[in-house]
Amino acid sequence: MGRCLIIGCGGVASVAIHKCCQNSEVFEDICIASRTVSKCDALKAKLEGTTKTKISTAQVNADNTDELIALIESYKPDVVLNLALPYQDLKIMDACLATKTHYIDTANYEPEDTAKFEYSWQWAYRERFEKAGITALLGSGFDPGVTSVFSAYALKHEFDEINYIDILDCNGGDHGYPFATNFNPEINIREVSAKGSYWEDGHWGETEPMEIKRVYNFEGVGEKDMYLLHHEEIESLALNIPGIKRIRFFMTFGQSYLTHLKCLENVGMTSIEPIMYEGKEIIPLQFLKAVLPDPASLGPRTVGKTNIGCIFRGKKDGKEKTYYLYNICDHQECYREVGSQAISYTTGVPAMIGAMLVMNGTWQKPGVYNMEEFDPDPFMDALNKWGLPWKESHNPVLVD
Ligand code: NDP
Repeated sequence: MGRCLIIGCGGVASVAIHKCCQNSEVFEDICIASRTVSKCDALKAKLEGTTKTKISTAQVNADNTDELIALIESYKPDVVLNLALPYQDLKIMDACLATKTHYIDTANYEPEDTAKFEYSWQWAYRERFEKAGITALLGSGFDPGVTSVFSAYALKHEFDEINYIDILDCNGGDHGYPFATNFNPEINIREVSAKGSYWEDGHWGETEPMEIKRVYNFEGVGEKDMYLLHHEEIESLALNIPGIKRIRFFMTFGQSYLTHLKCLENVGMTSIEPIMYEGKEIIPLQFLKAVLPDPASLGPRTVGKTNIGCIFRGKKDGKEKTYYLYNICDHQECYREVGSQAISYTTGVPAMIGAMLVMNGTWQKPGVYNMEEFDPDPFMDALNKWGLPWKESHNPVLVD
């Protein structure tokens, strides 16, 4: 069917690329382009001969729009799948606009110097994408991504009105290290050390980091402590789910992870303010990233499961109802299939599905859209087909 340019070749990209290669009818030709081209070449060598998908590679600095434009003009993809870091989103969107190419990503833009997650910068491209006749699909990972599609599906099939959404992200995996992060450490630590926030009655409520704790018993994992965090899908769901009164996001963390994080914070290692070290300016968090285990190396050692989903409360035919949609994913099964742990897997599979739906026209609409703005049904079917089957419960335990 078409050609996909994938930018980035880290943990999430590796899974998405494996999945594109399993789906050769749609992804006939892919180009893997990243900063370190040797990683792209190594993945190409691993996959070639196992797939009908034609694979090429390229070196690109995605902070440079002209380089991106030159690459898109020479490769001529139907879609660009951005799996680099959130810092590159706008440069890649600029290149897509200049070349009239559809755009998909998994995380919203974040300026490097402020650790501020919000959609304003990318939503500001709406009119330009509409005029150019191209689609930008924002946040096609698990959360955001699948959680957004779950919300659209619940609204379409189960409710007349959704009033409360609790998004629960549980990682019951154990990698055996005293401290490591499951995806890019810099992005991960910026996310969890930020203030918590939730949406209630039309505005944001704010908490100190990790101030609100709940305990939940997750199917497939067991009882875990979880903490209220800010998360980017809250912002778009608050606009796109009519009648919503409150949206909260909880993520599980073990006590050891939190103690390590507190200690690193207390000594200044998680700061994004540059400091001078031996005559050179360094950012402590980037230095910390360099000494922590590479998330891509966690695959073989991580055992256990993830359980991520949304609990909805609202009304159907005038009656109150509750509904829980979730996916359980096993770290070792992911490793056996694609050589990665479940956090990269649960993000990389939806990234491939989003790119597929834009490429085959199912989810094409000129403009800039969040996942819940499209018909959820084809995405829900694809989750079952491509490795992230979902489960539902009409009688879930609620979070107080
Ligand atoms: P990694 O750090 O493993 O990979 C990032 C990749 O991007 C690396 O290959 C890196 O290259 C490349 N890259 C970074 N900067 C540039 C640049 N300037 N030009 C070209 N390539 C560049 O990150 P992950 O795979 O863990 O995460 C990828 C994305 O997925 C992130 O945006 C993250 O926020 C998002 N994510 C979304 C989730 C969701 O559920 N929605 C969940 C988890 C992650 P190099 O190899 O040279 O470092």
